[in-house]
Amino acid sequence: MLSLVRTAHDFRRACQEARVDGSLALVPTMGYLHDGHTSLIRAARQAAPTVAVTIFVNPTQFAPNEDLARYPRDLDGDLAKCAAARASFVFAPSSPGEMYPPGFQTYVEPGPLAQSLCGGRRPGHFRGVCTVVAKLFALSRADCAFFGEKDYQQLVVIRRMARDLSLGTDVVGRPIVREKDGLALSSRNAYLSAEERGQAVGLWCALGEVRARFSRGERDGGALERTAIEVLERHGARVDYAELRDGVELQRREVVDESTRLFLAAFLGKTRLIDNGALGESG
Ligand code: AMP
Repeated sequence: MLSLVRTAHDFRRACQEARVDGSLALVPTMGYLHDGHTSLIRAARQAAPTVAVTIFVNPTQFAPNEDLARYPRDLDGDLAKCAAARASFVFAPSSPGEMYPPGFQTYVEPGPLAQSLCGGRRPGHFRGVCTVVAKLFALSRADCAFFGEKDYQQLVVIRRMARDLSLGTDVVGRPIVREKDGLALSSRNAYLSAEERGQAVGLWCALGEVRARFSRGERDGGALERTAIEVLERHGARVDYAELRDGVELQRREVVDESTRLFLAAFLGKTRLIDNGALGESG
């Protein structure tokens, strides 16, 4: 039976008890769960006898002009999906004050990995992400935690944080789960109108065309970035960024190879979607 804990105190206790019986895996989310999230829960289930899922729309990772207030929520639906994916328990703080008690003033400041791409467009975003994830690692003392490559920069920033701060939780990355037409699953896809949903496939098409040009021999990063921008614009998306970077230090690559990743962010109407993938991969 899946149980729900609503306070940081109870979450710490539930994790403590779980760790007596063996290892503990953590799957942090903001809820409104889809098959991308449940793929992480199922992978965590393979890694540890106890899987804790957290559901928290973390206010510190949203800028004042972003979608914190209207971010989609469905706790009952989420609990059903967690149960079906065989999570052990869910921590859904009853209020932001559970994570940020009165007088809260200490944050985790990530380094250069968090400054480009989404970090450049969303100042303070990764500071909020790192702070909440460090707190979840501290409360749970999980052996491992599962994150999606959908948010690739987030994955490498968190992995570096865990290492730099000796947090003791192994950070595991998992592949992107996509719709049939290639659109990466995202809670924010719920914002899209029917027309925008049609246009959103442009991110996947951009990745596909860039990979196709790469496989035909193009190695010029600038030329491939221009292809990505053309494809996105052709689909009616407003490009936020389309950049080729290495997958470890996220350094810009002017000459690319199969491990170089294309990172995309684009607006469909008011909704900002992201995607990424290595040039030498197909999924
Ligand atoms: P979120 O609820 O958007 O904060 O996402 C929680 C976790 O699910 C993060 O590690 C995401 O990278 C991961 N995730 C979101 N969408 C997908 C997807 N389509 N495929 C795989 N993982 C995903």
